[in-house]
Amino acid sequence: MTLRYRKRSQGRISKFSVDSSVGNGRILFSISLLILILTAAFGNGFVRADLDVGIVATRTVNVNIKLVFIGISESDVDVQYMSWSENLPKTINTQVIIGGKDTGVTSNVRYYYSFVQDGFKEKLISFLGSVAETGTLRNPAFTYYEREGKSLIQKYLNVSSTHYDANRVETWLRQNGEGFGGLLPDGWTLVFMYLPELPSATYESMRKYRTQDSTKNTTDVHPHYYSTVAVDEDLEYRLRYRQFMTAYGNRGRLWFVDLSAGPSFWSWRETLPLQVALEDQKIRLGSTYGRNWLTEYLADYAWGAVMNFVIPFPVYYPSYTTRYNIVVNILDDRTDAERKNTPIERTVNETKIREAFSELAPYAKTDVQILVRKTEDLPALRRIVRDNFEKLEDATFQGSIDVIDLRPVYYYIQNNLASFVSPVKKDETEFTIPVFAFVFSEKSFFSYSYKWDRASRDPERPSLLGIALGDIVLISINQWYFTRGDEVGQKGKGIGLSQTIIHETGHMIGLMHPHQYDDLGDFSYSAMGYFTNDYGFGQSDKDFLRHAHADQVILQTATNLQKAKMKLESRVESNEVKASIVRLVDRLKLAESECDKLNYTEAVARALEAKQTSLDILSQAEKLPEATAPLKEQIQTFIPIAFVVGITVGVCVALVIVKATSRRKHTANPHIF
Ligand SMILES: [Zn+2]
Repeated sequence: MTLRYRKRSQGRISKFSVDSSVGNGRILFSISLLILILTAAFGNGFVRADLDVGIVATRTVNVNIKLVFIGISESDVDVQYMSWSENLPKTINTQVIIGGKDTGVTSNVRYYYSFVQDGFKEKLISFLGSVAETGTLRNPAFTYYEREGKSLIQKYLNVSSTHYDANRVETWLRQNGEGFGGLLPDGWTLVFMYLPELPSATYESMRKYRTQDSTKNTTDVHPHYYSTVAVDEDLEYRLRYRQFMTAYGNRGRLWFVDLSAGPSFWSWRETLPLQVALEDQKIRLGSTYGRNWLTEYLADYAWGAVMNFVIPFPVYYPSYTTRYNIVVNILDDRTDAERKNTPIERTVNETKIREAFSELAPYAKTDVQILVRKTEDLPALRRIVRDNFEKLEDATFQGSIDVIDLRPVYYYIQNNLASFVSPVKKDETEFTIPVFAFVFSEKSFFSYSYKWDRASRDPERPSLLGIALGDIVLISINQWYFTRGDEVGQKGKGIGLSQTIIHETGHMIGLMHPHQYDDLGDFSYSAMGYFTNDYGFGQSDKDFLRHAHADQVILQTATNLQKAKMKLESRVESNEVKASIVRLVDRLKLAESECDKLNYTEAVARALEAKQTSLDILSQAEKLPEATAPLKEQIQTFIPIAFVVGITVGVCVALVIVKATSRRKHTANPHIF
């Protein structure tokens, strides 16, 4: 782990190199070269004398990842080829997704490979057999068409399938890690298993399904899946179709994917089983082509998992703070009857929201304020909402949906933010997150339009539930959602606000989805996913945020230290300050070593101690008297002289060159220059 310093360029060099390529290039180049030589000679002094020059500390961290292969033969994979940076992320410079800011942190990823013995695979298969459940379920990955009047309506097929409890499989893999040489103590373990011996979709049955008459409502395909249960903790609705996962993990630093499972409706492309793809494309494992094919295939799954869980990018800059202040404005736009039917207090849980964030960043205090208001008490806002309502009853291309155009509402709230939440802070003392949760009547949702399109993809989430816009969060929920169960055999059950508030607030403090780089990441434990509807943050969320905060404080400390050192150049020597610097460097090393061990909460604590020391040193340095005949003044007077001399000499030389050039142009050999 190293720290480097980068000084922001003053732009002079690039200006001259551009000039040198046009017109009298050579002449200007000669002049610039001379000036550069002269300024370079005094360059050190120049930087030392000017404390305003920007110092940006950067940091490189080592990341360890173990790739475990179960049911995949080492001879069918080219590990060296897989390690190539085109196949797997090697050196990643973390950038903020929105805004593009550089975090100053570069990750160097080291991969460890483990191909497990058949004995362990048999043990796993036997464990899976012991928890298997087989049944026939409506499966959205398999559809057929039913004629209703003039039109064909798409329906889900009943498909026989085998299911394994995803949580139990994850726990089993973590407890039986010795079978693949143990989990990495200071890194992540990603498990890739290929188990077509389990009841699985075969090429023949899949081909038959794909080519059969689209109105046929049966299939021979019998896939296997990993199942989870997703229940709304406010209004107890159980989300449907959550049995169809092909991967899971992220309650610890382990994630697994079963390449023989599926296909899952959530991502048909990502979950076409390997045995089906191999036969469809006539891949011969063991041949040169087959080895490269399988290596690239596995690398693609690994690449997504590495970026999703191990080195994710933040959506917004994840500023370190000692207090998250989540201010939730619930704006109830429903009818009185709806309000009576589902009291707003039942739809949101302040404790759950606070607990999620306290666990995520234990060193920060989380406050959650929930303010419920009726929109009739805010007539201007109510008018904006009503004016931007659109009923797309029988829209040919967009389906039937009631929408409120989100952008004008956002525009209004942004311009009137202080009347709702004040003050809004984003510093070390407080990070305020203003949340505006609209509760609409009947089936209305916010819609963030894109050109003509207002569509959505999940049958359980007909439109936009929430959006984290950087300055505020906008959420929409409605009475239909609160009573969702009534339509689908879960009478009296519905979906409340808490999960969406946790998810969107997570974005605001920097977290991205676990499926940002590969849909399969959504098959994991995380409040930042869509599929599993979790209320707690996953290991990847915790690691990411704590690590980002530790890095920030470490980099601020390193910058302070460098500033102090520059200041001390012109001050009398102080043994006290020297001792403080030694102490500071030790504390920084301690913070970095806690990062290496993935003890990020500890790392934040150590980094904060180091930062305090760096601030003490800065103020100590400020108080020290100037050294006699300060170097600073000498340099400051000398620099302009150096420039004048440089330019004069440069111009003289240039004139000589110009003369020489014009003379030689008339000689026999015009190509001498
Ligand atoms: Zn999201």
